[in-house]
Order: sequence, then C-alpha cells, then structure tokens
Amino acid sequence: MLEYKNAQVDLAPTKIVAVARNYRAHAEEMGSPVPEIPTIFLKPPSSLIGDDGVIVLPAASQRVDHEVELAVVMKDRCKNVSAREALDFVMGYTVFIDVTARDLQAEARKKGLSWAVSKGFDTFAPIGPKIVAKDEIDPHSLDIWLKINGVYRQNGTTQDMLFPVDELISHITGIMTLEPMDIIATGTPEGVGPMVEGDVVEAGIEGIGVLTAAVQRDR
Ligand code: MG
Repeated sequence: MLEYKNAQVDLAPTKIVAVARNYRAHAEEMGSPVPEIPTIFLKPPSSLIGDDGVIVLPAASQRVDHEVELAVVMKDRCKNVSAREALDFVMGYTVFIDVTARDLQAEARKKGLSWAVSKGFDTFAPIGPKIVAKDEIDPHSLDIWLKINGVYRQNGTTQDMLFPVDELISHITGIMTLEPMDIIATGTPEGVGPMVEGDVVEAGIEGIGVLTAAVQRDR
C-alpha cells in the first residue's frame, strides 16, 4: 500500500454528520425532491484529511465527485437543543469537501442501500485550512466555491441553504448527542462534478480561507 502524505487533522470528532440536499439547486441537479426536513447521513472520522492532502480515488469507483460544504465544528456536548440555543454549542466554521463516489451512490440509491460505501472511503473528507470562531462570521451570508485546476466548478452562497445551521443542530441533536469537535457538513450548492487523477482542487468559503487537495488514483 502506498503511503499518502496526508496532513494530520487536529480534530478528533466522534462523528461527521452530513446533510443531503440542503440547497434547492443541488437537489434539482440530482433529480431529487427538496426535503421537508433535513436529510442526514454519517461519514466516518477515518475519512478526514487536512489541508494540502491527497484525495485518493478508490479502484471500486469510476466517478468520484466534489461537494464543497460549510462545516460546523461543535464546542460542547449537546442533546435536544432548540434552534434558539443551538449556536451556543458551536466552536466555529471551516471548509469541507464531501467527496462522493457518485456511481456507487447511484447504485445504492437504486437498490435502496446505505450511502456509507459511496461517502465513507479514506480521504473522502478534506477539511480546513482553519476553524474560524463562531462570532467572526455569519454562516448564512458567505460565498462558497470550488475550483479544479483554477476553473470554477461550484460558485454559490450559503444564503441558499434550505435549513440553516441552528435548525440543523436542533434536528440532529433530537436524534443523537453531539460531542465536542463533532462536525456537521451542511450540504453543497449546485455544480458538483467529477475529479480525476492529477487535479488540484481548491475549495473556498468567504471569511474562512481556501482548502486545497490533490487527487490521485489508488494503485
Ligand atoms: Mg454533501
């Protein structure tokens, strides 16, 4: 097995809770209905890589997509919190790429199976380059974009989130306890598409910074 020089992540979350279809235009591009309540799934902490890491395309997939997302990093343990108090439990925000094996996901959707395979490979969760404290930015008025080899592929605004951060936290903590450092990936705007070996991916959010990743095929 090759050693990939992936930057260590200074975060040790117990889980990454990801939100599906939290932007109308992305739900439409996927041919999926706009959800009435948040739709969540889990990515394993073992999928995390830091800034300047390498996304490894697994042999099992012929199509691996980028999804740039605003990530919420939790500060305190919480359960059953109201939307009104939800932000009290947040440490800050960072940039996240919800890397997705789209062909495996499509197959799973067709068969009614879980997304764990399509979303859970090692290196499928680049995060960084830093956490910006909660009070420094408004998470719902930020430009969010992703470039491959310098060309824009996604270019949206977090204003278009269907469910805002406080409502997501309230919904999620009605189901599971969130622990310090747990991550919520809040969904992607439209423009998702494939990455191939040799690509350089830059994902940016206004007020936070740019997360960079290289792309390599597993061999
Ligand atoms: Mg996503």
